[in-house]
Amino acid sequence: MTILSFFTRASRAFHGYPLSSKLLLLSSLSLSGGGVVAYSESQADVSKTSDQTNEKDRKKKRVVVLGTGWAGISFLKDLDISAYDVQVVSPRNYFAFTPLLPSVTCGTVEARSIVEPVRNMMKKRNGEVRFWEAECMKIDAANKKLLCRYTVKNNSVGNDEFSLDYDYLVIAVGAQVNTFNTPGVLENSHFLKEVEDAQKIRRSVINCFEKAVLPGLSEEERRINLHFVIVGGGPTGVEFAAELHDFVKEDLVNLYPTVKDLVKITKFCRDGINVQTGCRVISLSDKEITMKLKSTGEICSLPRGLVVWSTGVETRPVVKDFMDQIGQANRRVLATDEWLKVKGCEDVYALGDCATINQRKIMEDIAAIFKAADKDNSGFLTIKEFEDVIDDILVMYPQVKHYLRTKQLRAVTDLLKDSRGNHRDEVDIEGFKLALSHVDTQVKNLPAPAQVAAQQGEYLSKCFNRMNRCEYNPEGPRHFKGSGRHQFRPFQYKHFGQFAPLGGEQAAAELPGDWVSMGRSTQWLWYSVYASKQVSWRTRVLVVSDWTRRFIFGRDSSRI
Ligand code: FAD
Ligand code: MG
Repeated sequence: MTILSFFTRASRAFHGYPLSSKLLLLSSLSLSGGGVVAYSESQADVSKTSDQTNEKDRKKKRVVVLGTGWAGISFLKDLDISAYDVQVVSPRNYFAFTPLLPSVTCGTVEARSIVEPVRNMMKKRNGEVRFWEAECMKIDAANKKLLCRYTVKNNSVGNDEFSLDYDYLVIAVGAQVNTFNTPGVLENSHFLKEVEDAQKIRRSVINCFEKAVLPGLSEEERRINLHFVIVGGGPTGVEFAAELHDFVKEDLVNLYPTVKDLVKITKFCRDGINVQTGCRVISLSDKEITMKLKSTGEICSLPRGLVVWSTGVETRPVVKDFMDQIGQANRRVLATDEWLKVKGCEDVYALGDCATINQRKIMEDIAAIFKAADKDNSGFLTIKEFEDVIDDILVMYPQVKHYLRTKQLRAVTDLLKDSRGNHRDEVDIEGFKLALSHVDTQVKNLPAPAQVAAQQGEYLSKCFNRMNRCEYNPEGPRHFKGSGRHQFRPFQYKHFGQFAPLGGEQAAAELPGDWVSMGRSTQWLWYSVYASKQVSWRTRVLVVSDWTRRFIFGRDSSRI
């Protein structure tokens, strides 16, 4: 779209609207200047016809990506698609900016403002990415084949299923909601995982209020309708509770004044929100939530209106089945190595919520490291010999860096000091083992999963882009157990901090360097970071204008 056609379209769309809307459009345009340019530039690249591309692509390695979430999209965004024949399979033809999903539940932002169509993202590339709106049903690792099923209902293709061959497979299917097999949860509660879930919650919240003001109800019945229950202690539930609390306090109390004092939110510790801890939900019916108190074993029931279930996630069936095939049946989550390659399987990578990196423990390799470092085979490691392998150790075992930080050691060689803190010239294998024996306690679970997924996608695309070059010029650390070097540096997560919106225009932030801040100014930081993290200028403009609209007019309470 050229800038001119953009303005023509915009002016046509706003023809006949009052002056205020035009001003709003102008103000959001001034924020989006860069985006308009980005769109107009990127379009020009798409020049090849599909047939030409297919002919050329036959010689290229086939990469199939499963999923269009944080991990899948960030992989595709940076992948050099002219070097591969790329196909994407996902039941969702868009990317969703999940950190803003809780805001969709109460209409603070609109659902369409936080999603970007996959095809929009892909058309701006110098090659073709084929997208199939389908679900992968089975991964046949032995034959490098996928069985998929279209999710487009009533398609005219006849058979819903098709198979795809791959040379490389990138699994980025995320995880699914875990109900812990609690009876009644699937039928009687809301989840908050997908955009549709957030939209359903939004309608149900308004529904609860409309029901509560109907004539002929007793006060108790109104109270029950307005009892919102959030099950689960994770950040998503907290964010939803905060959003709901604000929606009620800032907007709904004015629209439903007769029932404003009957609202109750059960979950977490703030004004107006009840917290129930130390109990486990054992069943859910359309009227009640039944819990067991952990301390006494007593069972009690609470009448409820809307329930949001947000207790955590589990592995998807397609991934579980794949894990059975490759000898990972007894694991909870699919394991990869530090290069995101699935353990026990060739040419398959997994990233994001569907996998975890099995970080290598330094103690498992300690003898090999010692042997490789002890160049003169003296049986002792001198400081000089240790220094020669330090860089490779730090890259291979990031826990060493964390350990040095927690122990406030400045140099890695400080690890070799004796128990009284005196420098030693050399250590034997036992001394070496002792020096590093506590390092593995610092193997960290990665926080902020969306950031992890996005960084993994970006990392893997860089590896794919340099696959050939690095085969001959490996750039990774040395193989302590073998010879030569690893092809790539292992994935390393960089933590840029984390936010927790608290509601009431306040947020908490944990930033690098253990810096913590809380309050209104942090909320403004939250606004700017979340605006800047949007995947396109289009969504950025939409989100910022939604926030502006909310400031001026409040949230929309229509149940559409
Ligand atoms: P997803 O983003 O879930 O993407 C999975 C993709 O795979 C989807 O496109 C899905 O349609 C597709 N798929 C599923 N099954 C199949 C199949 N069989 N075949 C093919 N494709 C399939 N993280 C943070 O760091 N900060 C936050 O503030 C934050 N807030 C959150 C709020 C909410 C409400 C939720 C639900 C999550 C939040 N998260 C947050 C977590 C974050 O969204 C996830 O960690 C992240 O989405 C993981 O990325 P992913 O690509 O692995 O999976
Ligand atoms: Mg030696």
